[in-house]
Amino acid sequence: MFSYLMEKILKFGGTSCGSIVSIQSVISIIESNFKAQTKFAVVFSAMSGVTNQLLEAGNLASKRKNTDNSIIEDIENRHFEIIKHFIPVTGQSQVIAQIRTLINELRDVLKGISLIKEISPKTSDLLVSFGERLSTQLIFSVLAQKGLPVLYVDARNLIKTNRNFGKSEVNFSETNPLIQQYFNENAHKICLITGFIGSNADGDTTTLGRGGSDYTASVFGSALNVQEIEIWTDVDGMMTADPRKVFAAFTIPSISYAEAMELTHFGAKVIYPPSLQPAFAKNIPIRVLNTFNSSFKGTIISRESTLSPYIITGISSIDHLSLVNLQGSGMIGVAGVSAKLFTVLAREKISVILISQASSEHSICFAIEPQVSEKVKEILYREFSAEIESGDLEGIDIQNDLSVIAVVGEGMRKHTGVSGKLFSVLGKNGINIVATAQGSSELNISVVIEQKDLSKALNVIHETFFFSQLKTLHLFLVGTGLIGKTLLAQLIGQERYLAKYKGLKIKLVGLANSRKQYIHEAGIDLKNAIEWLDSKGSTNDLNSFVSDLKQLNLPNSIFADCTASKDIYQFYLGLFHANVSVVTPNKVANSGPYELYAELHQTALAKGVKFLYETNVGAGLPVINTLQGLISSGDRFEKIEGILSGTLSYLFNSFVPGKSFAEVLMEAKKKGYTEPDPREDLSGMDVARKILILSREIGLKLEFSDITISPIIPRSCEMAPTVDAFFDELENQNAYFEDLVNRAHAHGHVLRYIATLEDQKITIGLKEIDSSHPFYQMDGADNVIAFTTKRYHDRPLVIKGPGAGAEVTASGVFADIVSLGSYLG
Ligand code: ASP
Ligand code: MG
Repeated sequence: MFSYLMEKILKFGGTSCGSIVSIQSVISIIESNFKAQTKFAVVFSAMSGVTNQLLEAGNLASKRKNTDNSIIEDIENRHFEIIKHFIPVTGQSQVIAQIRTLINELRDVLKGISLIKEISPKTSDLLVSFGERLSTQLIFSVLAQKGLPVLYVDARNLIKTNRNFGKSEVNFSETNPLIQQYFNENAHKICLITGFIGSNADGDTTTLGRGGSDYTASVFGSALNVQEIEIWTDVDGMMTADPRKVFAAFTIPSISYAEAMELTHFGAKVIYPPSLQPAFAKNIPIRVLNTFNSSFKGTIISRESTLSPYIITGISSIDHLSLVNLQGSGMIGVAGVSAKLFTVLAREKISVILISQASSEHSICFAIEPQVSEKVKEILYREFSAEIESGDLEGIDIQNDLSVIAVVGEGMRKHTGVSGKLFSVLGKNGINIVATAQGSSELNISVVIEQKDLSKALNVIHETFFFSQLKTLHLFLVGTGLIGKTLLAQLIGQERYLAKYKGLKIKLVGLANSRKQYIHEAGIDLKNAIEWLDSKGSTNDLNSFVSDLKQLNLPNSIFADCTASKDIYQFYLGLFHANVSVVTPNKVANSGPYELYAELHQTALAKGVKFLYETNVGAGLPVINTLQGLISSGDRFEKIEGILSGTLSYLFNSFVPGKSFAEVLMEAKKKGYTEPDPREDLSGMDVARKILILSREIGLKLEFSDITISPIIPRSCEMAPTVDAFFDELENQNAYFEDLVNRAHAHGHVLRYIATLEDQKITIGLKEIDSSHPFYQMDGADNVIAFTTKRYHDRPLVIKGPGAGAEVTASGVFADIVSLGSYLG
């Protein structure tokens, strides 16, 4: 059986070598490999930040500014600190001396630099080599002292490169035999190898480019043909998205080389796959692991990723870029323009991040780093001056403050509709796509968007492709009265159900009442929401609440107005424009001027958000949804009749012969059914608002002033100066009411306060109805609505039940919010 000279190469990055805690973990990882009798070697980076510090020290020295040696002292101290922690006192002086020797050598190099006031690439490589030499030497001492059979390996003796200082290329035909021979001779040892560095034919120190320790691991891995390379870093492998931007990002268990390349092309943080090329070429799997969470499986990068349940593998992005657009009729069919363009850019070493050309060939656009945008503009104006003059090129324009997102995955080749899904979720969230590009490998779709939308876009895309099972709605709730509080309680009660059966998470992000307001992006704990609002909230200022909400720009944002305030609807339009949906039991907006009603609805439609207000009529009863369903399916309304006030329903359901009207009203008042001044209920205004809204829903352009309301009470009652006087006057008018109810009774009729919409007219008033009428049999404070339509012609469609109260109203609002779950995202 083929036996490996080495089974594994482990590589520890800067943060893994950077602190007592991390080195403790490095030691245990190495020890456990040793105990398992694995044949392995280890590559180390410099302690985190040291390479940069060395470059900075070199730069200062070249300017003779190194009067204080604080940088080197700091480096020295960090290493000493590790020694003091891990090495028993008796052994310390020897190790300190070794480190000090290196530090002295380093100081000499810096001195040399300051003497000649110049730092060449060659000297710079020598200078930064101390980072890896120090860290490796240090960990070597710690492990040696623990009795492990370790060997310090200065990679400069084994990795041979060309003279390209700063980023030297490895000469594999020389390097591979050197490595193989060395490991043959030292097979029984644990080799601890300095990452990042090598040497050229003259014996000068060279480096493999920033982040080059991964490359070192790869070079050794491929020379020794190991089974696996482990890259130990400080995150849980490669993630589906940048976890700093997407809370829900998670580790990708398995990914192909090609996908890893695509993902890291856009701002790779974890690894830089090109540096793993030698390993890829030999098909050696790379495992990305977390030193700080060493039992976690991390990500395995190999030729083929194992089947993942998701269509895409990951999402990456570049935060800042600029887009250059060249357009002009002269570009049509002129292959020369783009050839010239890219030649020029290559010559000027401008790296192009993305290119997109419309098939009309009328324009071509490409993305660049913002730092070079001015330069690019200059170059292009210079190079294309003739084309601009002749008018073949209309102009060159540069758009800044953009970001690009790449959605990556081999699965896209097998699935259709990925870009459709991508674009539609961006559209629904009001994110404008400035440009797009899809690689013909179908491994990557990139979209350029405005930078302000980046985090929102990443989150919605992530949610769409990775969490179609659990969608987050971001709720901003205004109003903590009865309805608001009840809604919060219902949200708490249904949290688990929604997650499990609806795939929904409703995250309360903002809360406000007439006194205070509070926004917390990470989510407000529902159980403590009101306390948080009181203790952490700032003074109420809805302007700032709404502008903070817009600023946050969260996906699937919902604004719930659970107040009766007349001042809040004015924010609705702006919210729609910011792609925020509005849910409300508040009738003020819909029953205002028709023009406002129309504008709100049209804007919501145009922006692809929802305006939901099922609770405007009949609280939680499904009145508006039913009506809209009938209209959408082509039914035509002939008549709407309804008892739309719980108070008035109760009143006339209880007002039977033998009772006085004043008595019944007083009873209702005591039960809390009426407004403090019951005349507000009796005025029929509230009923009028509701039927007005229904009329608009069926397409009529009616105004409040078009409604005819017949008064219930005689004028003298209406005019009474106080509530008490009003009740007195009711008693005085008892005969009037008695007469009403007795007359009805005599005909076998009952009295009902009914709003009617028929022939485009709304009338509201007290009516006598007979036992065949659907409103004859009523209970308590129920509401009832009857729709007579073309389809429900002979017998109307009747919706009946409790139409007021916090529980049913809140549940209606709740249902509206939940319905947004299937619409948004
Ligand atoms: N220490 C080097 C750097 O910071 C190499 C590495 O860490 O991989 O670039
Ligand atoms: Mg590094």
